Amino acid sequence: MSLPEKVGQLLMLDAQHEDVADIVSAKLAGSVLHVSPARMPEVRELADRTRLGIPPLVAEDGIHGHSFWPGATIFPTQLAMACSWDPSLLRRVARAAATEMAATGVHWTFSPVLCITRDLRWGRVNETFGEDPFLIGELGAAMVRGYQGDGLSDPTAVLACAKHFAGYSETVGGRDASEADLSPRKLRSWSLPPFERAVRAGCHTFMLGYQSIDGVPITANRWLLNDVLKREWGFAGTLVTDWDNVGRMVWDQRICADQVEAAAVAVNSGNDLIMATPAFFEAAQAAVARGLIGEKQIDDAVRRVLRLKVMLGLFEDPRAPDPERQRQVIGCRHHADLNLETARRCLVLLRNDGILPLDGGLSSDGTGRAADSGRPRTIAVVGPNADSPEAMLGDWAGASGQVAWMPDGHPRELVETVLDGLRLVAPADWTVTYAQGADIGSSDTEWSIGAHGEPTPPVFAPAPVDEAQLREAVAAAEVADYAVVVVGDTIALTGEGRSTATLDLQGGQTALLDAVAATGTPMIVVLVQSKPSTLPDSALNAAAIIEAFNPGMRGGRAIAELLLGLIEPSGRLPVSFARHVGQQPVFYNQVRGQHGDRYADLTQEPLFAFGEGLSYTTVTYSTLVMHDQDVPADGTVSATLRITNSGTRPALETIQAYVSDLTTSVTWAEQELKAFTQVDIPAGETLDVTISIPASQCSLVTADNRRLVEPGQFSLRVGPNSRREHQLSAGFRISPQ
Ligand code: BGC
Repeated sequence: MSLPEKVGQLLMLDAQHEDVADIVSAKLAGSVLHVSPARMPEVRELADRTRLGIPPLVAEDGIHGHSFWPGATIFPTQLAMACSWDPSLLRRVARAAATEMAATGVHWTFSPVLCITRDLRWGRVNETFGEDPFLIGELGAAMVRGYQGDGLSDPTAVLACAKHFAGYSETVGGRDASEADLSPRKLRSWSLPPFERAVRAGCHTFMLGYQSIDGVPITANRWLLNDVLKREWGFAGTLVTDWDNVGRMVWDQRICADQVEAAAVAVNSGNDLIMATPAFFEAAQAAVARGLIGEKQIDDAVRRVLRLKVMLGLFEDPRAPDPERQRQVIGCRHHADLNLETARRCLVLLRNDGILPLDGGLSSDGTGRAADSGRPRTIAVVGPNADSPEAMLGDWAGASGQVAWMPDGHPRELVETVLDGLRLVAPADWTVTYAQGADIGSSDTEWSIGAHGEPTPPVFAPAPVDEAQLREAVAAAEVADYAVVVVGDTIALTGEGRSTATLDLQGGQTALLDAVAATGTPMIVVLVQSKPSTLPDSALNAAAIIEAFNPGMRGGRAIAELLLGLIEPSGRLPVSFARHVGQQPVFYNQVRGQHGDRYADLTQEPLFAFGEGLSYTTVTYSTLVMHDQDVPADGTVSATLRITNSGTRPALETIQAYVSDLTTSVTWAEQELKAFTQVDIPAGETLDVTISIPASQCSLVTADNRRLVEPGQFSLRVGPNSRREHQLSAGFRISPQ
């Protein structure tokens, strides 16, 4: 291979905004992203006609389904899926998504996101699995396995990509891609464990974040890329930068004088594929000519890229789009059913004064609809997200802004909104009425291209309160038996470059909630949103609150089923909710030590805590018994607890086990999730459940940055969520080895 051919293999270029002939034929890009269905054949033909005819590696952001393939199955967002706390379910979701992607000629998905939610103002909270490193690691590993299937030779497998390595979510003020206030020790304590888990799960690729840490852009962080990822964890896969990370070192972070220097920094720091920096093609060659990069460095990176192509078998079969296969798998019945199953598991019941399930719960008529109850009711479905297909899908789907070829989003008939769901599922003798009631704000999603070629989202403008809309909603609620008010956010408040300064419901939504509450009709608030909002009193005092996040194509039906009692609520929060934006950060596993435990003007208690979620029955926890109070450092902490379902409905209970290390050589989190298990418990039954945690998991990171277990006294806390008052605890001791 000539030097230009080798450098070309290190390029991953944007096939949407750039000239495809230029990137494939002139810059010899070995890899492309954002290839529209229409452009796919052209990319392949051009690559075929290059001197070596090396097959291209085609990548896409299939974040929660095959995001930008019209009619693909769009699952709930990662944050929503995390509410299921079910790794095996997520593995099946990733398998289905991979099957759809592979049929369209995509080889690589930029998923899962393993960033930890810290500041809720960050626009990308929806892409995460929430705030806990252990839960993120379990769910992320499951998705990696799902995408990569039984191995890359499986034609339905796609490469997974653990991103954004690492610490990208540690934002200042929630601002996207800002300098992250992280020490190597803090990284090792919280941000790195999910990524290490992904390596152990066999993830073949990692993508960097955007931030810099302690003065070093992540693209130049040799300690993280080489010492930790490659040497310590033994990662032998391929590293891709994030979008124009190399260019950003010149025009944004300004640690390099020009592209040539930036190309040298990137390659010498251990990056393989350079995303969306076309100038890298000439710059890297110039850097070699000037002796800033050794050809051996280039060869090593090229080898790691070509190895991916070999492992996928692209030289024998380039895995081109297969129209027949697409007809079989894209949006197929089996995936739609899995999507509904997933949406059902993602819903979190946060408040319930007993109003839910409506009318005490209805039974199914066998067709998916609730049977007539003999008591006809009227439900007023109200709110800007009650009939919004975009809000069901959330970011990275259809018209969410990243690609231009789906201006109308996914086919409307594939998306079930809350209004659709109630119309489809409510008993035939019930009446479902609708009034939008309020707007949230500007709905323009078209991105522009900034001065340095960077995609830039539009600025959000909140909508004013519209009195006519409000009156219509109030009129509908007044004559109804129940008001279901669906509020939240929009894509214009979600995603990259769209962090929010507040967490308040925007536009006319608070006025709508206040007005519907004032009618006295029992109000059920359904939150369809990318991340936790803060809520006005009218919502907090509602008869019930359901969190749905962005629940995917089948979400509206699942919500209707939950309201009517056709299914049981089982979701648990993977993230804590703030009462006020000023409480940031509000995550549960904060480090011990501060003066007092509250603000002068507000409690520090979250509105809803990590792990919380109700069922339609009452499950009580009793008698936590340790099997052994003395556990060797290489042993297992195990305990049995008893749970009783004293209500009249079944439950799927998520039993959560937290560990508190009582005295530590460094300040450390008061408690950390170390295990969880899910059990079906029928009404009226009592079950004994055993929890096991390897003692090696009860570790911390020392002041000199080593992760180890410090022998001594610990407390095991088991309960339905992270709130101390809901947990049983028992002491144990870990003895030195
Ligand atoms: C995002 C990544 C994404 C990439 C390609 C970047 O701006 O940070 O998460 O995979 O674009 O679309």
